[in-house]
Amino acid sequence: MVRASSRWSGQERAAVEGIEVRLDAGAAAAYRTWAARAAALAETPAQLLRFAPWYQPAERTWLERAAATGAWTPDEPDTMDRQYCRAPAEALGHTRRADGLVLHLLAADDGDAVVLHARYCRAATVFRIEQRWTEEQRLTWEELVAGHPCKGCGRPVFGSFEHKPTMQRTPDEAALHDAEEAAFLALHPDCRTTRWTYGSTGLTHCSACCPPPPFGPAQSERIARILVEIAEGVARRDADLARRWEAALPGAAPADRGEQLGLWPRARGGR
Ligand SMILES: [Zn+2]
Ligand SMILES: [Zn+2]
Ligand SMILES: [Zn+2]
Repeated sequence: MVRASSRWSGQERAAVEGIEVRLDAGAAAAYRTWAARAAALAETPAQLLRFAPWYQPAERTWLERAAATGAWTPDEPDTMDRQYCRAPAEALGHTRRADGLVLHLLAADDGDAVVLHARYCRAATVFRIEQRWTEEQRLTWEELVAGHPCKGCGRPVFGSFEHKPTMQRTPDEAALHDAEEAAFLALHPDCRTTRWTYGSTGLTHCSACCPPPPFGPAQSERIARILVEIAEGVARRDADLARRWEAALPGAAPADRGEQLGLWPRARGGR
């Protein structure tokens, strides 16, 4: 594995974080309607982007403008594990540079204009992982389905509780989440990298230590059934979210939530 640390000067950071895309009047109005409704739901802004047609054009413009400055050339758009974001209450999309630096894009509304801008996402030293896994190191699909543990860390792949957004967890679920986080960190105290989990009930694995799970041929009945169950679960959650989105009352938000979304004016540039 090759780890190359990257230098990111304060000047460079300020330049990239200073790039702002001002939404035009139509997009700004669409943003405000979206934010008012989003504030009434527990989902993170990123989870509500499919109701936000104003976002993608603004993101594209931001990326173009940032690339034109030479300071930010994205490696792949939005490849980051969202679990890793330290500010899920504000992050809309993520962009990663080839050296591993990650930014997230967020909206700010000062009551006059709505702008899309970026913030440095990870406050840790960044590494670029160039890990090549051999076939022997990876689980086969048959092993995965049979419940074999990860060959990197020895923990099971499946068998966790169902992952939910932070704000939707019950106290019991939050405790389970904390225990899982502690178990993961105990095994990977210094792995500053992304993580992976398999499905909605997977345990957390480390992208540096744990070979990624296999892509499987959907041949056996058992595999097909699992895939159908996963798809049904996703479809059900999607339908449920769409229903709650329609029912959400704009403005029925706690004050801090509205402020995080830029719904109510605040001083710009504050953190
Ligand atoms: Zn982030
Ligand atoms: Zn593992
Ligand atoms: Zn690790």
